Amino acid sequence: MEDCLFCKIASGQIPSDKVHEDEQFVAFRDINPQAPIHILIIPRRHIERLTDLGPAEAELIGQMTLLANKIAQDQGIVAGGFRTVFNCGEGAGQSVWHIHMHLLGGRPMHWPPG
Ligand code: 5GP
Ligand code: ZN
Repeated sequence: MEDCLFCKIASGQIPSDKVHEDEQFVAFRDINPQAPIHILIIPRRHIERLTDLGPAEAELIGQMTLLANKIAQDQGIVAGGFRTVFNCGEGAGQSVWHIHMHLLGGRPMHWPPG
């Protein structure tokens, strides 16, 4: 997708503070962090929103969750607790139309998130 910010970050066209990359995924620090650790995990493949996922993406989304666990371990936020979030749709606060899992940690998390 030519005009997608996160496709450009994934390809390296736009710089980011990456903490992980592999064939399928890129993970990088959020530019406007909401916690001491705030990382975005994205698939390289352009998928607009969570509800565009189907059975064919079950493996992809599973791998993404396993990767979140690994990054949480690498970042030292497992013991203190961490949160993963997908915002889906404008009403939920989605502002970039390429799916991304927020991984937040390093401070106490409150509920409801608001
Ligand atoms: P959403 O609101 O769509 O769930 O999350 C988008 C996230 O992307 C926001 O937390 C925002 O701070 C982050 N973001 C937006 N533009 C950039 C950017 O250019 N670089 C990085 N690293 N993060 C960005
Ligand atoms: Zn994209």
